[in-house]
Amino acid sequence: MSSDCLFCKIANGTIPANKLYEDDELLAFWDINPQAPKHFLVIPKKHLTGPGAVTSKEAGLVGSLIAKAGELARQQGIGDGFRLVLNNGIEAGQTVFHLHLHVLGGRALGWPPG
Ligand code: AMP
Ligand code: ZN
Repeated sequence: MSSDCLFCKIANGTIPANKLYEDDELLAFWDINPQAPKHFLVIPKKHLTGPGAVTSKEAGLVGSLIAKAGELARQQGIGDGFRLVLNNGIEAGQTVFHLHLHVLGGRALGWPPG
């Protein structure tokens, strides 16, 4: 837990979120500023600053994160077309420095991304 981290506070219940899924390791909640009809975030409860901070030690956790994202996407009816996004660093658009996997779907998604 990082004391000034928004997503740590959501993970420990200090700040509310519109939750979709929770277990001991992971939490999924709807993005407050959705960029697609379905847009939610899947995070590990463990504080990692972003994908650039992931090491082989977290391989299992990150595998679980991706597996859960796909499972929730299927549950939400977007299993045939969704995008997973991990932003790392300000230049890439990261605004919250706690690892979070964006899951977006429910509309056609252009490529390349902005
Ligand atoms: P990123 O730009 O990759 O760091 O993504 C951060 C995401 O967190 C953005 O899509 C925000 O809309 C979202 N966000 C910020 N605060 C909250 C919150 N309190 N609850 C849900 N989503 C949030
Ligand atoms: Zn955190």
